[in-house]
Amino acid sequence: MGIKELSEGILDIIYPKRCPICMDIIPIDKEVKICETCIEKLPYITDPRCKKCSKPIDDETIKYCYDCTNNEHYYNKGWAVWLYEGNIKKSLQRFKYNNNKNYGRIFAKEVVTLYNKEITEAKIDLIVPVPLYIKKQKKRGYNQAQIIANNISKYLDIPCNNDCLVRIKDTKPQKNLSDKERINNTKKAFKVVMSSVVMDKKILICDDIYTTGNTINSCAKELLNSGAKEIYFCTLAIGKGF
Ligand SMILES: [Zn+2]
Ligand SMILES: [Zn+2]
Repeated sequence: MGIKELSEGILDIIYPKRCPICMDIIPIDKEVKICETCIEKLPYITDPRCKKCSKPIDDETIKYCYDCTNNEHYYNKGWAVWLYEGNIKKSLQRFKYNNNKNYGRIFAKEVVTLYNKEITEAKIDLIVPVPLYIKKQKKRGYNQAQIIANNISKYLDIPCNNDCLVRIKDTKPQKNLSDKERINNTKKAFKVVMSSVVMDKKILICDDIYTTGNTINSCAKELLNSGAKEIYFCTLAIGKGF
């Protein structure tokens, strides 16, 4: 056993690897991933779902959810892994605020396993994370969307750019706002600072959660206004549609 393996072994005993969902300890010889018990129980998005935003819907005879039917979305299509509820909600909180950056690789793998085919067929040539306001990112130490984007980029061998799109408004958390306030909150919140990077590109925007879609929509609009060709998105979790 080399020094590296030995020190990793000791670290595993002091800080055991845990399933990112149920926090159960994973045996030392096993890879860190979502445990089998959780995989079986997690609310994976299944059909019927909205053909645009991918929110699960109850009625299989309709093509688009209420939101996509009634509101203009600047992206072509999006994909999400889980419904934003229960254990997923709690796990995403730990990923975002408790420095569990290693969750990003595990979650990105879920996106790739489920949507590799769709992303490849869309011929995405650039991945862009939803940016955080610079002061917020400094305070938190990282941007969870950036971690997801960078890992997807590695898995799929598609370039990722963390700097071409910036957040120029310190937006309030969307969850405390009314529908109208939400739209205004994200309006003109993003700016492309390197248009040559996004020009004529088919871009995949990455984020952790899609609820109203205002954030991703606002990013998509700004990217298109700056010369991007088509916009898609992927998120780990999404709200239910109707
Ligand atoms: Zn688990
Ligand atoms: Zn929809």
